[in-house]
Amino acid sequence: MYKLPELVFEYNELEPAISQKQLTIHHDKHHKAYVDKANGLLAQMDDGEFDAKNIAKGLSFNVGGHILHSLFWENLKSPQEKNEPQGSVKTALEEQFDSFEVFKDKFSYLAMTIEGSGWAALTYCPMTERLLLTQIEKHNLYLYPGYKILMVLDMWEHAYYLDYQNEKEKYVESFWKIVDWNKINSRLDEALR
Ligand code: MN
Repeated sequence: MYKLPELVFEYNELEPAISQKQLTIHHDKHHKAYVDKANGLLAQMDDGEFDAKNIAKGLSFNVGGHILHSLFWENLKSPQEKNEPQGSVKTALEEQFDSFEVFKDKFSYLAMTIEGSGWAALTYCPMTERLLLTQIEKHNLYLYPGYKILMVLDMWEHAYYLDYQNEKEKYVESFWKIVDWNKINSRLDEALR
């Protein structure tokens, strides 16, 4: 069984970047729906008669949604005006992108240019030992098997529409104030171990 994780912060703790109402619906309704659908597909398999293709496709989407949302909540924290990376991720970002500012611009650009619904992600490639920026469409397209996901930003409309309507660039701007760089650091350290 897949399980909806509890948030590690209060529902109002990301305000004003993400409102209590927006976060509550996003976590309690949208994320929960992916968990419930994935569990429903597992139950269908347990019942015996099932369409294997349907299950495979549905699980990829819903489990992808579940995992990405879980990663997303964990890489957020309450807003901070000057919020910049420290430690190993700072070093790695500067090596790869010259500066944090360049990285930020490129990541924001990727987030803004996702076709349809999807995610912007910072990943680590263990084969080349490089950081790589990726776009994930829906919850499961253009993933790189074996790459470690360090940071994700949900760019589905359901993630920001209540707070920002069509002004998604304001949502992306606010995201930088609520990134938990300590968490990104610990994910990178795990990948480097
Ligand atoms: Mn979402």
